Amino acid sequence: MGTRASFNKDYYKTLGVEKNATAEVIKKKFRALAREHHPDTNQGSKHSEEKFKEISEAYEILSDIKKRKEYDRMRAGGGPASGQRGRSRRPGPSAGWNDPFDFGRKYQRQGPRDGDFGGGQQQGQPFDAEPTIDPDMPTRGFDLQFMVDLPLKTACLGGTIPYNYDKHIACTACNQTGRNDNHEVCPVCEGQTRIVENVTVNVEIPRGVKDQYTLRIANQGGAGRNGGPPGDLLIKVCILTDAKFKRVKNDVYMELTIPEALAENGGPLEIGTLDGRETIEVEENTLTGEEYRIRGAGSYEPWGKKRGDLIIKFRVEPVEEAA
Ligand SMILES: [Zn+2]
Repeated sequence: MGTRASFNKDYYKTLGVEKNATAEVIKKKFRALAREHHPDTNQGSKHSEEKFKEISEAYEILSDIKKRKEYDRMRAGGGPASGQRGRSRRPGPSAGWNDPFDFGRKYQRQGPRDGDFGGGQQQGQPFDAEPTIDPDMPTRGFDLQFMVDLPLKTACLGGTIPYNYDKHIACTACNQTGRNDNHEVCPVCEGQTRIVENVTVNVEIPRGVKDQYTLRIANQGGAGRNGGPPGDLLIKVCILTDAKFKRVKNDVYMELTIPEALAENGGPLEIGTLDGRETIEVEENTLTGEEYRIRGAGSYEPWGKKRGDLIIKFRVEPVEEAA
């Protein structure tokens, strides 16, 4: 009967021998134990029967050079998953190349040289030491996020818009301690060290900003705690559709209805552009759908200095017949 070695069992312990015990010692020990626990001499004792089986199994493995070697190697290197949680598997002298512990040691040795590895663990900190959160630790305030409707003109040309919102600010009544001079709960912030205040900030809109872009205004978010820095204000821009202008990349389009007479004869016409008012020259015999381009009068490139064009599409209005 070929017994397969079980790596969960300690056969050396079963026989009461050292791991480096010679074959001679193992044989001697087995014989002594076998005599002691032999079922014939123990009148059917269940305990002895079990014990006898165990020492027989142990002897079968340890007395066979090949089986003993394999058993030793598997015990040392981890072998098949044993399912014994929390038990450390120590590499023996014959631990192979695939031993994870060996790799770990090499890795750690290299670690401290570049300073990035081998910190806490090597200083003997237990793994289960939970980091405690210090309530007095300075913490950064929250970022506040808002959506802002932005006129197309402001998106094209940039500008400044006032933005009004509520945010936490540090309570100055208690100097952020939450307690007054009599060590009572601060009546202003009710011990929260911060109060809500309605504030208005001027938000700088960059030239040519795109729809759905989020602007970050540093330090205008919620107040930090215990002297920590404030969070940021995040403004997501939603560009409003304009009744007159339409932006396509950096160009801006507009439709312009002109009287038939002007379209036929041509002549000057004052129009409203993104920048204000401008007079253009309508050509003779202008037809509906014809375009007039004013270079550099469109939207700025995002964060740029160059501008796209303003393109005017004419629509010629027929002269109404007198009724
Ligand atoms: Zn207070």
